[in-house]
Amino acid sequence: MLYPLRLLYTARRRHSVRSRNSKMCGLLVMKSPVSGLGCFATVHFPRDSAIAEYAGERITHAEAVRRLTRTTGKHISQLDADYYIDGSVGGNETQYINHSCEPNADVMVIDSFMIIFALREILPGEEVTVDYLNSFDHDQTLCLCRTSSCRKS
Ligand SMILES: [Zn+2]
Repeated sequence: MLYPLRLLYTARRRHSVRSRNSKMCGLLVMKSPVSGLGCFATVHFPRDSAIAEYAGERITHAEAVRRLTRTTGKHISQLDADYYIDGSVGGNETQYINHSCEPNADVMVIDSFMIIFALREILPGEEVTVDYLNSFDHDQTLCLCRTSSCRKS
């Protein structure tokens, strides 16, 4: 899939501005109706805009497998064929983004950084969700997103 250049530019610019600060502006972690905690927008994100970097510690596949078997390994996401990002180590609000089968955001990799961007307009107060396919939350076998297209697993 190709992404518009405008989006790429926005994502890069935001990253350079925000990478020193683990707290993202525009996002808030609160209790979610989907599951546990969730990541909510506090500002308006236009469609195709970058929301934040999925930040965290960069780890190898072997280390990811090791951490995923522990209860703390719930915020690990695959970056590429070799590397994973553990959002619970040096990460930000994006580690709490829940899975939905009808997501309003998606993840793309730009220059080895995972960028969360808005698939559609997201309004303040809305929970930001991503279709993880193979969810970060490996011990959650039943999806509770309650959307009409939910795959239930
Ligand atoms: Zn679902």
